[in-house]
Amino acid sequence: MATIFSKIVAGEIPSYKVAEDDKFYAFLDINPLVKGHTLVVPKKEVDYIYDLSDEELAAMHVFAKHVALAIQKAFPCRKVGEAVIGLEVPHAHIHLIPIQNESDMLFSNPKLKLSDEEFKSIAERIHNAWEGKA
Ligand code: 5GP
Repeated sequence: MATIFSKIVAGEIPSYKVAEDDKFYAFLDINPLVKGHTLVVPKKEVDYIYDLSDEELAAMHVFAKHVALAIQKAFPCRKVGEAVIGLEVPHAHIHLIPIQNESDMLFSNPKLKLSDEEFKSIAERIHNAWEGKA
């Protein structure tokens, strides 16, 4: 059965897309730790990120790098932190989280509750930066 992230990639489940190419898809985490918290997934369905080939893993990180730079442009921060956990959704994904402090990346922190308009506006800002428009 397709994972929830494959359904998102296929457009069967809505998402706040920020970037896409032929192999990877980036969208806002629905339970963000901070504004701009983004997930990067391979379109190929693989559970464990380290089951990707060396080439796929490298390409995923290059894609994630450009998304991270767009996040930082849209949401000025000290750095964009990266985390791979993957225990909840069995489809490899990288969390990209704009941080001012180390504690911004604690997954035990309460998650933000954002409106549809807020999610759309955040996604648009990052997408524009990713396209070089911002
Ligand atoms: P992990 O597997 O890395 O522990 O956590 C999965 C992440 O995916 C969580 O941060 C969760 O909020 C996010 N997530 C789970 N389901 C959905 C969904 O349907 N849409 C979006 N945008 N994010 C999701």
